[in-house]
Amino acid sequence: MKKTGKIVPLLLNMLFRKPNTMKYPYEKATVQKNFRGKLKYDAEKCIGCGICSRVCPAGAIEIEKIGDKKFKAIVYLDRCIYCGQCAESCPKKALENTEEFELASLSKDELKVEI
Ligand code: SF4
Ligand code: SF4
Repeated sequence: MKKTGKIVPLLLNMLFRKPNTMKYPYEKATVQKNFRGKLKYDAEKCIGCGICSRVCPAGAIEIEKIGDKKFKAIVYLDRCIYCGQCAESCPKKALENTEEFELASLSKDELKVEI
């Protein structure tokens, strides 16, 4: 009898309280500060040292030479574990993690991206 007295007000409170969950994807989800999402690459800064590829624990990034002192980055989004090690290790700050996280795809080919 005593317990019922506590539960009823609690249940009523729960019924009219705003949900803690959000209606994603109908509502845009926000991410925390320092969130590590899809990588961004600045080819102008890259010197092609390859440190990012060497430190990547997932084998998810390759740097390809495309011309004289010109490089491009290829990232395998399905392998990347978004640890941020490549961005952390880049001596030229040519890589950074963005807030982009909606990367799902039905095609594996689409997950190999040039950034
Ligand atoms: S974020 Fe981590 S897993 Fe992804 S490419 Fe960089 S080092 Fe590799
Ligand atoms: S570590 Fe930085 S500068 Fe070196 S290849 Fe990777 S992106 Fe380019």
